[in-house]
Amino acid sequence: MVIEVIPCLNDNYSYLIKDNQSNTVAIIDPSEFSPCDKKINQKYKKLDFILNTHHHFDHIGGNAELKDKYGSKVLGFEKDQKRIPEIDILLKEGQQFKIGNLNFKTIFVPGHTSGHVAFYFEREKVIFTGDTLFSLGCGRVFEGTYQQMFNSLNKIKSLPGDTKIYCGHEYTKDNLKFCMRFNPNNKYLKDKKKFLEGRIKEKKPTIPSTIKDEIQTNIFLRYDDPDVKDALNSKKASELEIFSKLRDLKDNF
Ligand code: ZN
Ligand code: FE
Repeated sequence: MVIEVIPCLNDNYSYLIKDNQSNTVAIIDPSEFSPCDKKINQKYKKLDFILNTHHHFDHIGGNAELKDKYGSKVLGFEKDQKRIPEIDILLKEGQQFKIGNLNFKTIFVPGHTSGHVAFYFEREKVIFTGDTLFSLGCGRVFEGTYQQMFNSLNKIKSLPGDTKIYCGHEYTKDNLKFCMRFNPNNKYLKDKKKFLEGRIKEKKPTIPSTIKDEIQTNIFLRYDDPDVKDALNSKKASELEIFSKLRDLKDNF
C-alpha cells in the first residue's frame, strides 16, 4: 500500500492510496479538485475509487470533478446517501470492501456527524479517521452526542497499537497546546512535544501517528488519567463526564 499525503485548503489532508499489485488507485476525502488532480497526474494518471469519511464540504469538495475526469466510483456511508455528492457505492456499518487487493472495513463512528465512518485496513495496519480522531485531538461534536463520540473514539482506541492513523486535518499545533494545558505532567506528551514542534517548524505533516502514541498523549483518550482529572478539578467525575468537559473546554480554547 502506497500512501501519498495531499495538503488541501487551509489545513485539510486528502490521501491518495495505491495497491501496487493490481494498479488500483483510490483517494480518501478529496477536499478540492486541483491539488488532488495534480498529484494524481504526477503519480498514476488514474483514479478508481473516491472514499468519503463524511459529508462536510472540506471532505467531498473534489468528488464531482474527479469522478467526471477519471470515471471513479464514489463510496460513502449508506445513511449519508443524500449528503455525499455523486455517491455510487453505499457502505454499511462493518462492511468490507477491496481497493484491488487492499481490503478495508467500514467502521461506523458517529459524533462529529451522524454518518461518519472510518476506513480500517487491518492487514496494512492503517486507519483513515476523517474528523473523528486527530493527532492529539478529536473532532467537534456537531450532530451526535458526547456519548456517541466517546464510544466512537473507544472503538478506534481498541485497535492494535501499531495501527497508523491518517486524519482529516493538521490541527496538531493547537491540540498540543490544549493537551499540555490539561495534562501537564504526562511524560509521553513532553517527549513527543519536541518532535512535533520540529515538524511544525519545518511545515511538515505531523501525521501519521499510531494508536499507541495517541493513547499515551491524546487527552481525549486519557479520561482516566489522574493528572487530567486533577487539572479539571473533577476527581470523582465519570469517564464520559471527563471527556465531555474536555470537549467543551476545547471548543472555547
Ligand atoms: Zn468535518
Ligand atoms: Fe473537516
